[in-house]
Amino acid sequence: MAYKITDDCISCGACEAECPVGAIAEGDGKFEINADECLDCGACAGVCPVEAPQAE
Ligand code: SF4
Ligand code: SF4
Repeated sequence: MAYKITDDCISCGACEAECPVGAIAEGDGKFEINADECLDCGACAGVCPVEAPQAE
């Protein structure tokens, strides 16, 4: 299991600072989560203004 950022992402960057393992980075047009590093903690979803990070 891992979180995934949907196309709703507005690239605000808030989630990147919250991730305890640095699994989030800016991608092409939106931020992206490295599924191999994600701990499924939900911290990114908690700070996102548009609910873009979703549990898979
Ligand atoms: Fe990082 Fe947690 Fe979000 Fe996974 S669910 S990307 S570990 S903040
Ligand atoms: Fe995108 Fe939400 Fe992360 Fe902001 S907090 S970069 S809108 S996923």
